[in-house]
Amino acid sequence: MLKPGSTIGILGGGQLGRMLAIEGARLGYRCVGFAPEGDNVAAALCADFFVARWDDTAALAAFAAQCDAITYEFENVPLSVFDTLPVGAVFPPRKALEVAQDRLTEKRFVEGLGGRPALHAAVDSRDDLVAAVERIGAPGILKTRRQGYDGKGQWRIQSAHDAESVQLSGTPAVYEGFVDFAAEFSVILVRGQDGDVRFWESARNEHHDGILATSSLPAGERIAAQVDETHALAKAVADALDYVGVLTLEFFATEKGPVFNEMAPRVHNSGHWTIEGAVTSQFANHMRAVAGLPLGDTATVAESVTMTNLIGADSASAQALLGEPDTHLHLYGKKQAREGRKMGHVTRLIRPTRQIRQSRQTHP
Ligand code: AMP
Repeated sequence: MLKPGSTIGILGGGQLGRMLAIEGARLGYRCVGFAPEGDNVAAALCADFFVARWDDTAALAAFAAQCDAITYEFENVPLSVFDTLPVGAVFPPRKALEVAQDRLTEKRFVEGLGGRPALHAAVDSRDDLVAAVERIGAPGILKTRRQGYDGKGQWRIQSAHDAESVQLSGTPAVYEGFVDFAAEFSVILVRGQDGDVRFWESARNEHHDGILATSSLPAGERIAAQVDETHALAKAVADALDYVGVLTLEFFATEKGPVFNEMAPRVHNSGHWTIEGAVTSQFANHMRAVAGLPLGDTATVAESVTMTNLIGADSASAQALLGEPDTHLHLYGKKQAREGRKMGHVTRLIRPTRQIRQSRQTHP
């Protein structure tokens, strides 16, 4: 267990790092961040923050020298960074990042543990794409194997004709058949250093233009019926990676069962509801796992929870939402509200009547 006053390093400077740093501070730790130049909104919440390139080994060594344990909030941290960091000090382990950074490797890894991804094929050239569309069919989605997020690096292929005409960027990609899903959900777990695994309830996720719009609970029967199978798979993934921290797997709920979409070796946007909606949030449990502390209860504390992302200009009028009952606003402090940019989120809870009555008695 890391003693209070120890330092936890966070690689990456976005909102996930910011929310991790808040929980680190609550547990009595110093958080120190590291990220290349940019709008690093985690910096304001960290005791110290290194702004340097990922290949600046001197800066990385200086950062590591301050840290008793290190984690990351961003899955595109180059693997070469691990060469400068002390072996065994980074959680989740390097292997998790290695698998999750490449969509094809990730699908194969999960398939090897019994998961079922969408029909897919590696695409390195136009001929590969034409052959993939012929074999798998259209519509489908062409995705870059690396670096894509929030629908970026993705192209819809509606027909064989599209396969002939789409502008290929030359980067390795994967073509996936379009999944006819009833709903989308994620499985979020935390695994401690002793192998203890806990799951949060699975929320129903809705995406607009490839970006998560809402996560809501209860998720509905269709998702609830597929949760046991996906928990077993997610646990197998975590155990196989000797994982420590929060791990997210995203699924499509289809008539024929769950189809694996992708995984993230980190806290996840679809788990932001846990800050107010669960006994222990994904951020708090991630920091506990990294620090070797006992994990907290992941139970949901409300009858219904809805997390809505505030994207681009949505955040401008968000403060007015604070007047609504049991409504919790999180703004990330980003400088510019660009279109498609996650600026914050709001979580609304509906609690059992008894709980509300009790709190009214306490605060007349
Ligand atoms: P991803 O970045 O792969 O998570 O894709 C973002 C969103 O695009 C997903 O959450 C889905 O809503 C949609 N999507 C991605 N891949 C597929 C697919 N193979 N079939 C149907 N919808 C998809």
